Amino acid sequence: MKKGRVLITGGAGFIGSHLTDRLIQESYEVICMDNLITGDIANIAHIRDEKFSFIHYDVTNYIYVEGKIDCILHFASPASPMDYHSFPIQTLKVGSLGTHKALGLAKSKGARFLLASTSEVYGDPLIHPQREDYWGNVNPVGPRGVYDEAKRFAEALTMAYNRYHGVETRIARIFNTYGQRMRLNDGRAIPTFMVQALKEEDITVFGDGTQTRSFCYIDDMVDGIYRLLHSDVNAPVNLGNPEEKTVLEMAKDIIRTTKSKSKIVFKTLPEDDPKIRQPDISKAIALLGWSPKIGLAEGLLNTLSYFENKLNKARKS
Ligand code: NAD
Repeated sequence: MKKGRVLITGGAGFIGSHLTDRLIQESYEVICMDNLITGDIANIAHIRDEKFSFIHYDVTNYIYVEGKIDCILHFASPASPMDYHSFPIQTLKVGSLGTHKALGLAKSKGARFLLASTSEVYGDPLIHPQREDYWGNVNPVGPRGVYDEAKRFAEALTMAYNRYHGVETRIARIFNTYGQRMRLNDGRAIPTFMVQALKEEDITVFGDGTQTRSFCYIDDMVDGIYRLLHSDVNAPVNLGNPEEKTVLEMAKDIIRTTKSKSKIVFKTLPEDDPKIRQPDISKAIALLGWSPKIGLAEGLLNTLSYFENKLNKARKS
């Protein structure tokens, strides 16, 4: 595909900002559109490239961008459970109205569209590992429903624009991703455990910690998304690291990596928390030639230095 002009919604967020870096590095012109509800302008403040611009905007409103657009990457959405519990209506709106506006723009510009979907479309899964042809086990009226159902709707809308309007679409089902630029207090397991370990506070594990997660390092995720964008696969593709861990093992890994004296304490498991989570990535391997390269030990070390710096800065200010 010819390199060109890309619109990325949610580009000031964790994944969006790393993707923006990659696109600029690959010589794309990038327009980032974000209302900063959960993102941070600091994530893109280092980008000095003249091919980059930022528009502070809520994408649930009508989107207008002058000139040609070759690709739209729709990453806008609160993504951590703490965020979508704080912003339930905004989460539903950006998954539904925001996806509609972004697809409408893709249709009018003849642009390729990539949706950042999620492993949460599988809900609390009844099959393991999760394959793309599994339809999921989601509670629509539970507290996580605002996120899970918004993304399921977004996938359905994306396929409808593909089938009925001929928009070229891609759907990335992203599994838990971690790395630099996550917020210290976004409530997700890795930043929470790292901050607690670095401060030598108790590490709070939900339930008995036997629930599993599979964590993918950000550089691997960005590469998977980039490959999917440039592929011809319009059905959903799982992107994630199949290296599965219990949450308790993860807490212990972080204590070891940080050489912390923190103790592990157990708290009540949140409602509808998935008990198991592991991507089947055979499709990504076969169709994109992609699999994660960075193991948890290396990824955690890279992330740790970022969190240490952030904590030190927060202490000084
Ligand atoms: P994030 O919160 O860091 O980034 C989301 C960005 O979207 C933020 O910058 C936020 O300000 C912006 N945003 C939200 N609503 C908006 C609106 N109405 N208009 C404009 N901008 C808006 O989260 P993230 O972890 O980078 O997630 C990015 C995307 O990837 C999300 O769509 C998320 O659902 C998906 N995803 C992430 C993960 C993960 O592990 N991080 C897993 C699965 C899916």
